[in-house]
Amino acid sequence: MLEVKRLSVSYDVLPAVFDVSFEVRKGEVIALIGPNGAGKTSTLKAILGLVEAPSGQVGFLGKRLEREPPWVRVRAGLALVPEGRRIFPEMTVEENLELGAYATATRRGKPGARLDRAYTLFTRLAERRRQLAGTLSGGEQQMLAIGRALMSEPELLMLDEPSLGLAPRAIEVLYEHLEALHREGLTILLVEQFVYGALELADRGYVLERGRIVREGTRESLLHDDYIQKTYLAL
Ligand code: ATP
Repeated sequence: MLEVKRLSVSYDVLPAVFDVSFEVRKGEVIALIGPNGAGKTSTLKAILGLVEAPSGQVGFLGKRLEREPPWVRVRAGLALVPEGRRIFPEMTVEENLELGAYATATRRGKPGARLDRAYTLFTRLAERRRQLAGTLSGGEQQMLAIGRALMSEPELLMLDEPSLGLAPRAIEVLYEHLEALHREGLTILLVEQFVYGALELADRGYVLERGRIVREGTRESLLHDDYIQKTYLAL
């Protein structure tokens, strides 16, 4: 579904991502893990066109997107839940959700049906639809950010460190929702520093360090990899 080939990103002259290649197949959850500053966020942003990638290819559902602006990529079926959630705190839950439908509103079904789906998935959001988003708990804000991304009816949902700053119980609930989306067949590219959780959920994973992919494999092979156990799982 997504084929990233030899992607590179630099900020001014400083390289952040070098020659990164990986693929995501339909229905898979793929974990992209690595330490702070490894280039994970830059990779997601380059896939969506939010930062320039001077070289490399982004193939998605048979189309080449690397020269397209972000809105074309969203219409093609990509969505990103950014790090830090970036909801609009002064708007209600429902208004935040409606914004997510905006880019694809003309092409796909009515926003009402999408809202119903978001509320079915996240019942807590339904209970709080008129509440200002800034008054939600961290876990609820993360669900709102995911619900908003799903409002564009993406084929591939990308999440950037969704567990960051959440309490352990909220992380558990978040991962139950991600698991449910996986079971429904949604394809997910998950960037995480919560490595154990991400690998447990994922079908396969890639490890990015200093802008390069240094390991890749199935969930089992990565969870049993000595280097990953020592470096990321503290076993
Ligand atoms: P984190 O988990 O801390 O978000 P990351 O793996 O997502 O890390 P990136 O945020 O992609 O990594 O950063 C990769 C490198 O690019 C880092 O050295 C970072 O300082 C640099 N970088 C990221 N964004 C910018 C920017 N807008 N301008 C300049 N340098 C940047």
